[in-house]
Amino acid sequence: MTALCALACAAGAALTACGAPDAPPAARPAPSATSAAPSRPPTLAPGPSGLARVFEHGPRTQGKTVALTFDADMTADEGPRAEAGEHFDNPQLIATLRRLKVPATLFMTGRWADEYPQEARSIGRDPLFEVANHSYSHYAFTGSCYGLPTFSVDRLRADVERAYTALRKAGVPNAMPYFRFPGGCYDRKALKALAPTGATAVQWDVVSGDAFATDADAVAQQVLDGVRPGSVVVMHCTRSAAPVTEQAVRTIVPELRAKGFRFVKVSQLIGATSGHR
Ligand SMILES: [Zn+2]
Repeated sequence: MTALCALACAAGAALTACGAPDAPPAARPAPSATSAAPSRPPTLAPGPSGLARVFEHGPRTQGKTVALTFDADMTADEGPRAEAGEHFDNPQLIATLRRLKVPATLFMTGRWADEYPQEARSIGRDPLFEVANHSYSHYAFTGSCYGLPTFSVDRLRADVERAYTALRKAGVPNAMPYFRFPGGCYDRKALKALAPTGATAVQWDVVSGDAFATDADAVAQQVLDGVRPGSVVVMHCTRSAAPVTEQAVRTIVPELRAKGFRFVKVSQLIGATSGHR
């Protein structure tokens, strides 16, 4: 990033310039393969108040698409638990998504990529998947967020950038400019702090309820009941905190396909969302 860009961002102006020199004022699809412009993931430009935009779902009227998203959670203070044998990864889930040929978006914490670099690299280099940013530390940026440790919002930008650095170091070459807040917790201050990174905040409209669930059928049913065209489903890619997710996916995928749904990545929904808020 140039000094000029940093200054412009600090002033709250030309925020889209950060990391995306000619980002559009609203969402647009990445340039087509025939375009001379380099391919760039679609984003939602910050609003006039300088707040990062929040994406929750795609268009409801452009076909039956749905994006499964998986948060690869690991909190910065959980290293000793991993050393003691706790599994924060879920290789079987990734294998199932590959076997069923389900495109998906993984929101990965930098700490997770540090712990599982080979898995991060394998996911990050597989065109079936896209990897996005779930912070480095998985600390919340609001006061009260499901008991997560918290960071002052002043540390948001550095933590997001630290995550991108960790992802690159693990071998994820093109992490997407999408950020999911730890715990999904944000406020205006957090959105203001996120804007200079150029990332779009990505939430969801369907909660799978897979966190600490023990009944895969209940998780699957909740997803099947909630999905509408353009939906974004939040699930987890961490065995210890979401032990039945892979089993639920084996039900969810064929059932949604039987209903005519097609699985896409978050970038495809954002690209299809021109003018949508
Ligand atoms: Zn998370």
